[in-house]
Amino acid sequence: MEVIEHPVEKLRSALRSTRNDLIQTYGQYSREERRLLEEGLLPGSPLFSPITVHSDSDWIPSHPESPQDFQSFYSNPYRSTPNNGHKTIYIQTIGSFGDGAGISEQYVEWLRAYCQAFYYGLKVKLLPPVTVASTGCSFRVNNNTHNLQLHAGELLSFLKKKKPRDAFCIVGITMIDLYPKDSWNFVFGQASLTEGMGVFSFARYDDDFYKRSYAGRLKKAIKLKPGDYSVFQGYYTPPITSTLLFRSCKTLTHEIGHIFGVKHCLWLQCVMQGSNHLEESDRRPPDVCPICLRKLQSAIGFKIADRYKALLLWIEEAPSSSAQHLSKPTEAFQDFRHWLSKCLSILEDEIF
Ligand SMILES: [Zn+2]
Ligand SMILES: [Zn+2]
Repeated sequence: MEVIEHPVEKLRSALRSTRNDLIQTYGQYSREERRLLEEGLLPGSPLFSPITVHSDSDWIPSHPESPQDFQSFYSNPYRSTPNNGHKTIYIQTIGSFGDGAGISEQYVEWLRAYCQAFYYGLKVKLLPPVTVASTGCSFRVNNNTHNLQLHAGELLSFLKKKKPRDAFCIVGITMIDLYPKDSWNFVFGQASLTEGMGVFSFARYDDDFYKRSYAGRLKKAIKLKPGDYSVFQGYYTPPITSTLLFRSCKTLTHEIGHIFGVKHCLWLQCVMQGSNHLEESDRRPPDVCPICLRKLQSAIGFKIADRYKALLLWIEEAPSSSAQHLSKPTEAFQDFRHWLSKCLSILEDEIF
């Protein structure tokens, strides 16, 4: 295992930048906010840790990228920023979610509310769900894993037509696996950053996906007819567990981060780290490091404490008393809850 430890000075300049105007806007953070951001950069910080590389199949050894500091993020003329007419993130679900009636809506509502807390200050809205058939996209059975897959690029073309005028971005989510082109095995997701849209699948976040007993494997080699979507009726979707919800929240917020122009994080452990496989995605924390936090904060304009409070509230919200509603499975979010409380205690330390 290799630990990627950057000198504190380097992290500090990645956070503050070297441009005078950006150093000045940095000075507009409150003293507590700066304390949180900067203490996080120190070795041994209880809040932020250095990135560890566990094997050659991890993201960093297999995808050499240059790190993006705050200044290079800020100066990128092609990145999209929410503005007055375009302040809403739209989520479009494609195909069925959850393994029973009612769960589908509930699950997607949890995801929506989580994204709204994460991108605090923006509205996140759900578009009415659509069936696979209504997207008109191509599909196939994967030769190795024998599960159904949807053509990601054609789903993006579908989303382009659905994108509301006031959208900052539109993200399609599905429990069905995706492929980008015939020669590829699969893809977790695909995005068009300039058009503010992306489509992502949670199929491979099912604990059973890589097992022979995976219930999404089609039993016999059936011949699919293009345009005959009946094979999707009653097709397997993963059981809704706390782990699946945690993984889905992390993936969705990571992918929307890219639409803001945030590149993969090479600074500290961060939800914006690249990931090559499930074990590596699980290792990444649910929130951003101080450098990526400044990127989001500058794009949206929230108070850092308000955002942490909203995330904490999402985790702690009392389960609905109505029997029709499931209570939110937040077991997998408990470490995050403690972490958020620690960050808030720094931000609210008025004695300092
Ligand atoms: Zn990514
Ligand atoms: Zn980061």
